[in-house]
Amino acid sequence: MTLERELAEKSSLGRLAEENGVAIVFVDDTGREIAAANNNSICRSLNPDGKYVGQCSAFCGTALEETSLVGGVVSFTCHAGLECRAIPVQKAGKKLVAIVGRTFLKAENYRRATERATSGDWSEYPPGEFFENVLLTGTKEILDKTARGIESLMTEAPMVETLAPIETTTPTVPTPKTTSIVEKFKREVRGPKPVEMVKTETKPVKTDPVVAAQPVEETAVTPVPDIKQQSHPAQTEKRAAASRAWRSFFGSLLKMDYDNAIDSILEFLARHYGFSALIWLEATHDKFEHTSGYGEMKNRKVNLAISPGDPRLIAASQNDVPLELGERPKADSPVPHRTMHLFPIGVGGEISAAIATIEPIEPEAAKKQIARICHSVAPQLEILRLRSDVARREVLARAVRRFSESVKTIDADDFWFNLTQNVAEMLQAERASLLVYDERAEALDIKAMIGSRAKIDATEAVGVRVAKIVFARNEAVVISDVSKTGLPPAPAERRYKMPSFLSSPINIGGRTIGVMSFTDRAGGKIFDKASLELFRAIAPQIAVAIDRAALKEKAGEFEQLSVTDALTGLLNRRYIEERLLEEIKRSNRHGFPMSFMMLDVDHFKSYNDQFGHPAGDEALKLVGHVIRETLRGADVAARFGGEEFAILLPQTTAAEAATIAERIRINIALKELPYRRVTVSIGVASCSAELCIAPHLVAAADKALYEAKHQGRNRVRNFEEINGVEFGQATA
Ligand code: GH3
Ligand code: MG
Ligand code: MG
Repeated sequence: MTLERELAEKSSLGRLAEENGVAIVFVDDTGREIAAANNNSICRSLNPDGKYVGQCSAFCGTALEETSLVGGVVSFTCHAGLECRAIPVQKAGKKLVAIVGRTFLKAENYRRATERATSGDWSEYPPGEFFENVLLTGTKEILDKTARGIESLMTEAPMVETLAPIETTTPTVPTPKTTSIVEKFKREVRGPKPVEMVKTETKPVKTDPVVAAQPVEETAVTPVPDIKQQSHPAQTEKRAAASRAWRSFFGSLLKMDYDNAIDSILEFLARHYGFSALIWLEATHDKFEHTSGYGEMKNRKVNLAISPGDPRLIAASQNDVPLELGERPKADSPVPHRTMHLFPIGVGGEISAAIATIEPIEPEAAKKQIARICHSVAPQLEILRLRSDVARREVLARAVRRFSESVKTIDADDFWFNLTQNVAEMLQAERASLLVYDERAEALDIKAMIGSRAKIDATEAVGVRVAKIVFARNEAVVISDVSKTGLPPAPAERRYKMPSFLSSPINIGGRTIGVMSFTDRAGGKIFDKASLELFRAIAPQIAVAIDRAALKEKAGEFEQLSVTDALTGLLNRRYIEERLLEEIKRSNRHGFPMSFMMLDVDHFKSYNDQFGHPAGDEALKLVGHVIRETLRGADVAARFGGEEFAILLPQTTAAEAATIAERIRINIALKELPYRRVTVSIGVASCSAELCIAPHLVAAADKALYEAKHQGRNRVRNFEEINGVEFGQATA
């Protein structure tokens, strides 16, 4: 039977992959995949036709070579962070390599992959296909076991004997001519030793369960009941039925969306273990948030004095037991204090959610079973969460793009009104207001009001109720029902239709410059976390627009004071230098990364000399235009002087800045100009941590620019590449 058929028909090899939750892929000596089972969709997306390209070619693409150099199985973690075993095999006289695994073992690697897919260099791949089959359930033991399984299934002699002409006298591995994957792995993967993502539990539960939904057997992938344990035929039948129910439930999880999956899990547990109420807690940065529930806990608020990073919780997760928390007894309460069972849900030692109940759990063995259920659904939930995250980010990215387009065309006269209108439309708010802080008057100034039914006298302190508080606290609020807050009720003449509103400060470079508020959401809906998230996605652009407009207004007062460059329409050097100081302060305070780039047109003197100064001006204008078109909303581009430009990229790492710089360079090089095309050289500098000082950052970018020129122009250079350190990092 051919390998393709063997895998496709789920005979021994195919089953081995599915049962262990790992990929098995065969690669021939031309570096092409000839057959695959349960392949990781990330690998499929990166190499659609099975021929290894890009970074993959240095890992799976050279696995056959590596195994023959090493003379046996090679283990490696590839550039995508996937753990693999490469096993040399022979099939019909042909040398092949079986790559087993392609699964994440470390939560950190998995997270890095999701970041690359949502906002990094993998964002071009359609997320639906990319995350279709992400393998997360592997452990080192499973990988080794599967690798051994392959070796014994491939009946022919392992190819090592025929292939590895090791001519050394010592039994050590010969020094390979090429760098081995192991070496590459060592260089690429820094940080702590991999954390295993799933702890395997092999001991069967002794006590008879209330309901025999045996969730986890060896692999945590497709749990099977333990047959050996069963003695009575009736019990056997009951167990089998429960096991079927569990399997079909488990199999259906990946077809749901994240929220539905949570509801189904709670319902499943309630039904099988007789709970009348369950609480779903979602882990945020440092605390649990009650986001869902079953029964009477569905809409109740629960406060939990334990953080997702609590070592007791992580230990509970690793040992498949719940954490038991005693209720804090109230002073003279007649009610005896209760025990809460908290079942953590997480992957790789990182808790992402928990299920809680205050109902007693009987018998003791049921606790273990529920814990195992939580254990086995965790990777599934991770995938669902990721999918919804990707979908949400796509919606946000689209909204941000649309918004950037719309603010570009706002003309100066009704700037404030149009800006407010645009944002209100995005948030589906029928009413909105924009208040900007006037430094001289030391008060919030109403710049725009949209959708007011009653005519509001501007002298009446509109901002008093909410905006002032929001401004002073510099904290956004999302209120679903104002009557349930401590806020004074709105004056009746405002005639708000809905009790829900959203109000958020607008910040730029560490200053709070205004407040935007929204109410009366269309369709009678309330404002929620998603509304705030959407607002936050466009807030940096709103801030830049407001800041510019406010400065422009000021500039009108003092005639000379302009912030824009007349020729290119970009900001000028004064403005960017001021902003740079502010952004650096902010970056230092909050530990945000930020980047700065300097860009200089190549051989521009000759362009002027050849085609004249007016043509040169035209070219500079077009370069400025390309820069603006290529940047994101929150980036600040300025003409630094002559044919030099400077760009400030808040909250942007060196790697992201390099990608953006490269995009600018290419777009300019491709831009048709009236006489001939021009190219630019770009120097990038970033600060990531403790200390960053403006003149240093400019000097660093300048140095990188000089390097780019020196190396032949039309290229991007990073300061870190030149100096080998990240700029701004403590040197001690
Ligand atoms: P390099 O690749 O090393 O940057 O070469 P270059 O010729 O661009 O460098 P150089 O600094 O010698 O020349 C910069 C030229 O840019 C000088 C001047 O002709 C031109 N330039 C500077 N500002 C303006 C401007 O506002 N308008 C026009 N048309 N040209 C300008
Ligand atoms: Mg120059
Ligand atoms: Mg130049």
